[in-house]
Amino acid sequence: MKLSIVGTGYVGLVTGACFAERGNQVTCVDNDPAKLAVLRGGGVPIYEPGLESMVARNVDNGSLGFTDDLAAAVQDAHVIMIAVGTPPGADGSADLSAVLAVARAIGAALTDYAVIVTKSTVPVGTADLVREAVAASLACNVEFDVVSNPEFLKEGAAVDDFMRPDRVVVGTDSERARDVMSELYEPFSHLREKLIFMGARESEMTKYAANAMLATKISFMNEIANLCERLGADVESVRRGIGSDSRIGYSFIYPGIGYGGSCFPKDVKALVRTAKSVGFDALVLNAVEARNDRQKHRLVERVVEHFGDDLSGKSFGLWGLSFKPGTDDMREAPALVIIQGLVAKGAKVKAYDPVAMTEATRDLQVLIDNGSVELTDHQYAAVEGVDSLILATEWSIFRQPDFEALMRLMGAPVIFDGRNQYNPERLRRSGFHYVGIGR
Ligand code: NAD
Repeated sequence: MKLSIVGTGYVGLVTGACFAERGNQVTCVDNDPAKLAVLRGGGVPIYEPGLESMVARNVDNGSLGFTDDLAAAVQDAHVIMIAVGTPPGADGSADLSAVLAVARAIGAALTDYAVIVTKSTVPVGTADLVREAVAASLACNVEFDVVSNPEFLKEGAAVDDFMRPDRVVVGTDSERARDVMSELYEPFSHLREKLIFMGARESEMTKYAANAMLATKISFMNEIANLCERLGADVESVRRGIGSDSRIGYSFIYPGIGYGGSCFPKDVKALVRTAKSVGFDALVLNAVEARNDRQKHRLVERVVEHFGDDLSGKSFGLWGLSFKPGTDDMREAPALVIIQGLVAKGAKVKAYDPVAMTEATRDLQVLIDNGSVELTDHQYAAVEGVDSLILATEWSIFRQPDFEALMRLMGAPVIFDGRNQYNPERLRRSGFHYVGIGR
């Protein structure tokens, strides 16, 4: 099949590469010249395991190409996917301006029947808006269908998730579009049927409900952790105790420093906003968001409990900057809140991340320039002479560090473990002062 994917970010590029890998002819469209230059030069502008080699292979065999010419890319495409960003607007609602601008451009360029798919995460009712936008800009009398097909991939495992999805949700009332989507996703469903068909509104809501449920599990567990802290209980035992219940399960119940990334924070906000727009007070979702905002500050609160409120003259080593392991994505990363919190109290921070250094430099440039933050080229360089180490992102290289080296290098043996990765007893026996979350 011939596909055009508009928006070549985390979702668009992975989607394009994976559909090309499965034998489709894919053109990825983007309006960011810098991104296109990297892609045309044989590189990949984001870090995502397995993506670079898949992109290279499919560019080499002619199945995958990149352009800024949306009109040309749309010609003869059977399926056109919209995968541009939907960032939060000033009031927290999803900003649909890029989605609708692309919809209008598609309408103006359409010359033959195509299925237009929203892959971006969009509020309930957006398929109708996309349909109207395309229809209003059609240059010739041509039929089209609009389908909602939200993306559930996880950054850090995006290629794997796309190639082996748990499910593929398709929202449409059109038989014709349904057939096209069935054919497109057939190679991803060979072990069992993965496609779940429903209406567009239900499909749009499914994406928000999935992210809101996962965010709720995280905030719930952080709430329990904070309570454990005050009650002298170790939340890690509690986590194992409840995770073993098959009705609850182990995933997304890890206490920590709050969720970040480009999806959970904005999607929970957008769903709260959608609820408000129909006069509904989303009590649970409001609490999930409030707990998460507070949780991002929890580690700095614990630092203050240990060192006092004035951190001038103190220095901190910080391991892990991206919002989670496996990605260079710094959007809404808790590490940024922690660094800003420490610097605001007078501290200096030396930080290291295995892949997010370029992205982090962009976010931290002002603090780097004024000397408050230094990004080091090695994890152990970040701890030399510091008053304590903070683990912010649980990359595997940080899981079993050389504690003897830490003891030697650090100015004081204090560890704030924002992801409960280390064994408190063992560390205490080795002479470290250990502070975790909820323990
Ligand atoms: P992104 O910012 O990485 O990529 C968006 C891309 O769209 C950028 O490259 C941008 O240059 C391009 N773009 C914007 N306007 C354009 C236009 N008019 N024409 C052509 N290109 C344009 O965003 P992302 O993380 O890939 O997310 C895209 C959508 O997918 C969002 O709605 C997001 O919520 C959703 N989503 C993201 C993830 C994720 O893990 N990142 C997972 C599932 C769903």
